[in-house]
Formats: sequence, structure tokens, C-alpha cells
Amino acid sequence: MTEAPIPEAPLADRLARAITLAGPMPVSQFMAAANAHYYATRDPLGTTGDFTTAPEISQMFGELVGLWCADLWDRAGRPDVAWVELGPGRGTLAADALRAMAKSGLTPPVHFVETSPLLRAAQAERVPQATWHDTVDTLPDDILPIVVANEFFDALPIRQLIRRGAGDASGGWHERLVACQDTLFLPIAGKPVPVDVLPEPLRDAPAGSVLEISPASVGVMASLARRIAGKGGAMLVFDYGYEGPALADTLQAVRGHAFANPFDAPGDNDLSAHVDFTTLAAAAQGAGAVAWGPVTQRDLLGQLGIDSRASALARSAPDKAEAILADRARLMGDMGTLFRALAVTHRDWPMPAGFGA
Ligand code: SAH
Repeated sequence: MTEAPIPEAPLADRLARAITLAGPMPVSQFMAAANAHYYATRDPLGTTGDFTTAPEISQMFGELVGLWCADLWDRAGRPDVAWVELGPGRGTLAADALRAMAKSGLTPPVHFVETSPLLRAAQAERVPQATWHDTVDTLPDDILPIVVANEFFDALPIRQLIRRGAGDASGGWHERLVACQDTLFLPIAGKPVPVDVLPEPLRDAPAGSVLEISPASVGVMASLARRIAGKGGAMLVFDYGYEGPALADTLQAVRGHAFANPFDAPGDNDLSAHVDFTTLAAAAQGAGAVAWGPVTQRDLLGQLGIDSRASALARSAPDKAEAILADRARLMGDMGTLFRALAVTHRDWPMPAGFGA
């Protein structure tokens, strides 16, 4: 006789119990647990979900990314490359890019890094030939990767450091932890952190200042950049973010296209943080690769020819012309300046399109 599995307690209860037993947990641990549950239990994308991403707005996004890859691959001498995508969502970006690349003669094997079983199934519908990985560590060693990541790094856990008054050995900086009172989660200042982990110009920030660091993001970037620096390859990252170091509390929760309290209902909101592009670029350079940009999404898509692509699509489907131009405006408007693109290449590879002076 097989026994029915014991249903798992809701994530909020499990986190509350863990905090009761072991004490308040770092923001990074809370964010990692919340997002793992969130992405494993739903498809968050689109008008009926919690947020909409660039590839879900328009096929033009994936097609232009595909052209960027095909152009770089061509000028690099047409080596055997693999398409590697981090957090591919529904697989829409890959499907659009692969279609565009095939027109240039580039038909690479596909590797997806994706933890959510639910989204893996959605990806398999659009890109059935893909091979899936839980982390970048299991990507084969013998491939030259062209890595693409849209809205991936913002979902990786961040640590938050908060400054209280000066005057102790830590200079007043503490790790922010998540405590639990009854059923309410709330951030508190925890253990002091040694002041030397902080960038020098920020050490004397006013009380209440928050500094975010994402060791998980740096780890992923360093690992991929090491591969690229070794045998060749490239990477294109899109996300919302800033050129750090900067002091800001950017941890945010989104549900049903509206902002929510990031400490409420863990696992039911999308948690994200703005990406520090300066730190990502430094991680790539530290691993021996060349970093380009960041440039704004608007500048990059403009240089890659979004206007002529939109006109061509509108001409071939006049009944959809208005919608196509509206999608173009959405990718190039507020989103176009909030989002940035960072490229990484092997030192002997050519300059990627859209990242010139
Ligand atoms: N790139 C897609 C989806 C963005 S949402 C798009 O632009 O539409 C974030 C994606 O990253 C989802 O596919 C999510 O399941 C995945 N993801 C989040 N955290 C992850 C992690 N730690 N490891 C692997 N994938 C992760």
C-alpha cells in the first residue's frame, strides 16, 4: 500500500518555524526561499500574471537579440557555439532568437539554466531540443557559450547591509535580517559586519542607509566569464539596474502588476532587486573577459534596428500595425531607459554590435 504524501506546510509557516528555531535569517536566505517557491508554483508572466517582460511584449526583442548573436558569431569566424540562456521564462526569447539566427545560418545547441519545473515545461513546448540545468555549474565544458539573460539577475538573492549610528568596530554597519513576530515578517538590523566589506566612499553614510550586495549574481557572472575568457564565447545581459556602488533599498515585491510589501506572503510575490552593473562588469573582468557597457536597452535596440524591424512587421501585417508600433514604444520608452544591457566577450572576439563608442 502506498501512503499519500504528507502535504508540505505553506512556505510562510516553514520560514516562521525556521526563524523561531534558529533566529532571524539574512534577507538573502529569505529572498532565495521565497523566489524558489514562487517560480516553482506558477507562470508569473503576461497580463494575467504578475509582470510582463520584454520578450513577452514583442517578438522584436528576441529577434534583435538573435541578430546580435548571429552578427557577433559571424565576425568571430563562425565557431561552433551554444545558446545558453539563464532563466528563460516561457522560452519566448529563445524561440524568437533561434528563428532569427537560423536565417543567418546559426543553429546552435540550446542549454537552459532553469530551476522551476513548471517553467521548464513551458520552455519545452517552444524549444523542445533544449537541455536543462539547475545551475551554470553543469554546463558542458567543451561548448563556446553565447549566454543570454533577461530579467534573471534581478531575481537572484541579495544581502542587505544597513547602517545604524557610527561608533562601534563595524562602523555601524549590520547585516539586515528577517525576524518573525506572530505571523508577521519584518526586517531588523542583525550582526555587525566588518567595515572593510563596504566600498570606501560609502562607509560614512547616514544612519538608515542600505547597501545591497549579491554574491549569488557575482558567482554566476564570474563562472560564465571564466568559461568565456578561456575558450571563447559571449554574453548579453538585460535587466533593470544601476551603476554602483550606490546606497539604496531596492528589494521589491510585485504581484498582479502592482508593488507589494517584500516581507509579506513570502513565495506569493515576485521578489527582485535592481542589478549593480558595475559589480557584474568587474566580476567579468576579474575572470579575464572583456565587459562592454552597460548601455540602455533603448540605445541597444535602436542600434540593432528596431525601427526598421517594426516598420517591416507593420507593413506585412497592416491590421496589426498599431499594436506593433505600440509594442515598439513600450520597449523603447520608460522601460528602454530603466533597463540596461551589458555584454561580455573573449578578449580576441570582435566588439559586439550596439556597444561601440
Ligand atoms: N527571461 C524570461 C523570464 C524572466 S523571470 C523573460 O524575460 O521573460 C526569471 C526567470 O529566472 C524564470 O524563468 C525563473 O524561473 C528563473 N529563475 C529565478 N531564479 C533562478 C535561479 N536561482 N536559478 C535558475 N533560474 C532561476
